[in-house]
Amino acid sequence: MVGVRVSSGSVMRSGLQSTERIGSATNYSPRRRYPSSMLNSGSDSGSKSRIVFLGTGTSEGVPRVSCLTSPESDCPVCPDAMKPGSPNRRRNTSLLIQREFSDGRISNVVIDAGKFFYESAMHWFPKYNVQTMDALVITHAHADAVGGLDDLRDWTNNNQESLPIYLRETDLDSVESLFFYLVDRNKQTGGGGVAKLTFETIDDSPFDADGLEMIPLPVEHGRGQEIFGFRFGEVSYISDASAISDSTTELIAGSELLVLDALRPARTHGTHFTLEQAVDEARRLGVKRTLLTDATHDIDHVPVNAELAKLKESEGLDIQYAYDGMEISVEL
Ligand SMILES: [Zn+2]
Ligand SMILES: [Zn+2]
Repeated sequence: MVGVRVSSGSVMRSGLQSTERIGSATNYSPRRRYPSSMLNSGSDSGSKSRIVFLGTGTSEGVPRVSCLTSPESDCPVCPDAMKPGSPNRRRNTSLLIQREFSDGRISNVVIDAGKFFYESAMHWFPKYNVQTMDALVITHAHADAVGGLDDLRDWTNNNQESLPIYLRETDLDSVESLFFYLVDRNKQTGGGGVAKLTFETIDDSPFDADGLEMIPLPVEHGRGQEIFGFRFGEVSYISDASAISDSTTELIAGSELLVLDALRPARTHGTHFTLEQAVDEARRLGVKRTLLTDATHDIDHVPVNAELAKLKESEGLDIQYAYDGMEISVEL
C-alpha cells in the first residue's frame, strides 16, 4: 500500500483495513451531502445552486483496465472501483455548475467534456435533472478535457439549437485539428448531424457563461504550459496544475471552496501536483475548504481521506478528495 505523505516530515500509512474499504452501495451514497458550515443553499438569494463532480479522475480513468486484466496486478483500488457506488470509480475530471432560479429555470454550465463525457453524462445528468447544457467551458485541449466534444451531438441534435463553448484561441486550434468537422461543419462527410457548437474564444478576462461570471485562473500545467482554472462566485476550480503564480493566488483569495489537482502521492509527474504538493498549496492559499480531484488509481478514496481528515484535527486544514457524483450546495 502506498504511504500517504500529507505534510512535510510525516509519512502516514493509509492503514488499509477491509472494514474501512467502501465497495458497495450499502454504506456509500453518492448523493450524500458533506457537512459544510460555509457552503449552503443560500435559499434567500433567489436561486439554488450546486456543483456536481462529473469526474474526479485522471486521463486514463479508474479503474485501469490493465490492473483488472493483469495476473500480476496487486492493485487494490481498481477492482474496488468496479463495485457499484465505489468512490474509487473515477471518470475524467469535469464539473457541473447548476443554478435553479426562482422562476423554475435551470442553468447547467459544464467545465470540460473529456473522453469519458458520455459515461459521466449518462450517469449523472438524469440524476441531477440536466435537460440542457447552457454553456461548456474548457480548461485546456488535452484529450481528457475535450475528447468528448463529438458526443455533444446528442444535445444539439435533440435538445437545443446550439451549445456555446468557451475556450482559448490556442485550444480552439487544437480542437480544430482533433475535430475539424466540429469547427468547420462544411467539412462533415457523414449523413448524421454533427454537433452544432458555437466556439467563443476567451482570454484572461472574466467572461459570462449563461449569466455566470467566470474568472480565468491561469496556472502552469507542466513547465511553460499555461492553462486555465476558473473562479465562479466563491469557488475556485483548478483541475490541472503544477504551479500557481502570485497573480492567480490573488484571484483565488477569498474563495470559500478550492477544487485542486492532486494526481497521486509522492511521485512527481511534472504536469500535476502530487498529493503532498496539493496539501502544501491548500495551506498556502488558505481557502476554508479544499476538495482534491484528477486522481489516479494510487488514491484509495476512503483510507486516504481518513488520513487527510487528521489534518483538520491537527491544524484546521479541511481537505478531502472529491468523488464522482459528489454534490455541494454553493451560493452563486
Ligand atoms: Zn489499479
Ligand atoms: Zn491536461
